[in-house]
Amino acid sequence: FGSELTVSKTSRFNLCIDGVFLCCFSNELCSSGTLLQRWNVPPDLQLSRQVAGTGVPGKKGTNSVLVLIVGLSSLGAGAYVSRKVVPGKKLHDDSSASGLQNKQNRLSHLSPAAPGTHPKVPSHVPFLLIGGGTAAFAAARSIRARDPGARVLIVSEDPALPYMRPPLSKELWFSDDPNVTETLRFKQWNGKERSIYFQPPSFYVPVEDLSSVENGGVAVLPGKKVVHMDVRGNTVKLSDGTQISYDKCLIATGGSPRNLPAIERAGKDVQKRLTLFRKIEDFRRLEKISREVKSITIIGGGFLGSELACALGRRARTRGLEVIQLFPENGNMGKVLPEYLSNWTTEKVRREGVNVLPNAVVKSVSVSGNRLVIKLKDGRKVETDHIVAAVGLEPNVELAKSAGLEVDSDFGGFRVNAELQARSNIWVAGDAACFYDIKLGRRRVEHHDHAVVSGRLAGENMTGAAKPYWHQSMFWSDLGPNVGYEAIGLVDSSLPTVGVFAKATAKDTPKSATEQSGTGIRSESETEAEASEVQLSESSSPTPHVPTQGEDYGKGVIFYLRDKVVVGIVLWNIFNRMPIARKIIKDGEEHEDLNEVAKLFNIHED
Ligand SMILES: Cc1cc2nc3c(=O)[nH]c(=O)nc-3n(C[C@H](O)[C@H](O)[C@H](O)COP(=O)(O)OP(=O)(O)OC[C@H]3O[C@@H](n4cnc5c(N)ncnc54)[C@H](O)[C@@H]3O)c2cc1C
Repeated sequence: FGSELTVSKTSRFNLCIDGVFLCCFSNELCSSGTLLQRWNVPPDLQLSRQVAGTGVPGKKGTNSVLVLIVGLSSLGAGAYVSRKVVPGKKLHDDSSASGLQNKQNRLSHLSPAAPGTHPKVPSHVPFLLIGGGTAAFAAARSIRARDPGARVLIVSEDPALPYMRPPLSKELWFSDDPNVTETLRFKQWNGKERSIYFQPPSFYVPVEDLSSVENGGVAVLPGKKVVHMDVRGNTVKLSDGTQISYDKCLIATGGSPRNLPAIERAGKDVQKRLTLFRKIEDFRRLEKISREVKSITIIGGGFLGSELACALGRRARTRGLEVIQLFPENGNMGKVLPEYLSNWTTEKVRREGVNVLPNAVVKSVSVSGNRLVIKLKDGRKVETDHIVAAVGLEPNVELAKSAGLEVDSDFGGFRVNAELQARSNIWVAGDAACFYDIKLGRRRVEHHDHAVVSGRLAGENMTGAAKPYWHQSMFWSDLGPNVGYEAIGLVDSSLPTVGVFAKATAKDTPKSATEQSGTGIRSESETEAEASEVQLSESSSPTPHVPTQGEDYGKGVIFYLRDKVVVGIVLWNIFNRMPIARKIIKDGEEHEDLNEVAKLFNIHED
């Protein structure tokens, strides 16, 4: 391993024991004790010891930050269905929005048209949620939980009912069902089957019934974009001219995938062979393409690009598809993971059948004959048939202009306070929110669990809770069923890290984690009261195993440090320990001995 480490000019020494390097700052504690520690100090820091702040201002959407979790056990496992499912009726109409549409069409004659509006849409709703993604759905749930009679309208540009995105780059690709692109049902790593939709159409109230249905409910108006907001008049306008007024409004518009300038400059022939991956339709299209072409190139080394590379790589073996992944960093997930672990991950992705090209910066893309030619800045050329660009996200903030809302100039996204409030009756949640975290400062987070947590909090505050953001969200990424990590806080590879590893067993996999939790989607369930009860008790585990040279980084804990304080933690193939990590970050104490802190995770006891 030693060859992977960069030696600091001044402050570090390496020690080789049994073929394993323990690498420490000379002025910090060195592991002479029990756990194998792996230090990683980015080259810049080795010289300057300058530590990044809360995210990286100026790089909108690229901050490899954070995370956190929250309290819904699983969004899909809702407890507040207020209507009965008719016996014998198919519970899950997987055509999703079309099922709802049919239901609405059947009932449309019952609802009078409001003058000047879409015939089915109420002219006024108490709760209007703009966007039909994870954050909006979580908000709808929490509004209804606190106000069981609430009438909630979700207006979504997406033609589908609210669904979760993580399986689009993971489990759905590993399904044996030839109709998976239609059913959108997938086997979780634990083998249980579920749909990507949070709820079936029967869960929702037809839009035209929302104002009249007893006990209220949640209605979805799919395929409609909100194009204008009159904040003082409490009114929005849809793309078809329909106007709706509201009492309380949530903006949960998420984001749109970025493109590379080099691809934007290229002509339509290139654009036609490009996928920017975000939605169900993108999954359907890419799945089809992967069966038709000979070569696909993924640009981007973050979690989305790496997950798709692994998913497609697996198909490469069976179908002879060439899968190339290229990115500017030295290794996969290089903005998050310390260099040695990023390198390990790159080898893992290669073993999945992917031709990984690190240190690759795209200069131009063109069509030559029937193929795409990607020219790299260092002169290399890559020929391929289709490109997937997974190069980050731009928060959807078009509404800021008409609404007069502030967009954060550093992180992007609508700027809101610690209660996720932009104005007295407007809240923002999910990827589109740049919020004030009372623990870690201003930030914006692009993760599923944050969408759950912030959507839930916004819903609570829309019904009068007046609560600040308190619960650090987490995020996770799986490279197939056998390797995964969960992370919380500021996990940015530009920070110094200390890693503590142990040998993994068959139980230390994402597959096994979902078997144990039974949820399948790794969003934590934790209430504020539960969080304050978390006790950090030291393990009495035996002396840990010290990996031998060449051994995999089976499982471990990586601490991200700002000064001596742990501000971020990655749990590598360790699952269901997030409350401990959250508590360590929440306490914000200085730690002289991270071996001791690592013991709290009991990583050697499983
Ligand atoms: C393929 C994929 C895999 C992922 N995997 C993971 C993972 O493993 N772990 C993790 O933590 N995170 C993951 N994420 C990120 C996570 O899914 C997002 O952070 C989350 O979906 C954000 O939720 P949101 O509600 O803020 O936005 P979105 O889910 O993007 O929803 C926004 C909604 O708003 C609608 N909309 C936008 N503008 C308007 C408008 N003007 N009017 C009406 N509607 C509008 C959009 O159509 C959309 O329905 C993944 C993302 C993708 C794309």
